[in-house]
Amino acid sequence: MDLFLKITEAVLAALAGMCIFSFLNVVIYRVPRHMNFITGRSHCTRCGHALSGLDMIPVVSWLCLRGKCRYCKAPVSARYTVVELLGGMLALLSVYQYGFQWKALTVFAFFAVLTAVAFVDADTMEIPDGFVIAAALVGVISIFVFPEISLVSRLIGIVCVSGPMLLLAMLIAGGFGGGDIKLMAACGIFMGWKISLLAMFFAALAGGAYGVILMARKKAGRKSQFAFGPFLCVGMAAAFLWGEKILNWYLGMYGL
Ligand SMILES: [Zn+2]
Repeated sequence: MDLFLKITEAVLAALAGMCIFSFLNVVIYRVPRHMNFITGRSHCTRCGHALSGLDMIPVVSWLCLRGKCRYCKAPVSARYTVVELLGGMLALLSVYQYGFQWKALTVFAFFAVLTAVAFVDADTMEIPDGFVIAAALVGVISIFVFPEISLVSRLIGIVCVSGPMLLLAMLIAGGFGGGDIKLMAACGIFMGWKISLLAMFFAALAGGAYGVILMARKKAGRKSQFAFGPFLCVGMAAAFLWGEKILNWYLGMYGL
């Protein structure tokens, strides 16, 4: 019976995550286009036909319609479904780590903001200020939900990554974008300084590796800039989920 309850909880969490990220798809599509993302029916981007409820069931609709619009048969990007699956996975991870608690909900909200930032930045090379404000808001809520991260740690978290980034941006033209810097300041409230530093370390590793691959493929010569936001977002999610364990293991190696 206990196992049954666990499975039910996991299924509910995954379904909720997929539904919320289904809405996040709308945000990712509409915010850079300055469209209202609260009201207004969803349309097929090709034929403009309004989508019915049946067309918008997360994951299921896309699979049943074999990735095509029901009305004009134009292919629908798999990305929407991938984002929905990601939502399910992140909800499961949050609940697995924190149980059905406010903590899980707060962390999931943080992941949702990071996901929106990552996709919009990859699409447009810009991070909308609204997302930065949302990240800061989740950070302020987390002060109450995660009292174990001290206020001092959060205050240092605001500047410990964004400060050096700002300095680098002033020294090297075309370094970090203003959006990246504001994002790291806002997310520092949520993460505190330790996790912020680790997140930057992960992002630099992943972004650096990606840059090397780009250069090896000789695409970088033509288009040497790529959005760094997605790497920051993945780095922050990984650092928040596993940072404590990684830091303890690392410090343990030196007997600290
Ligand atoms: Zn269509």
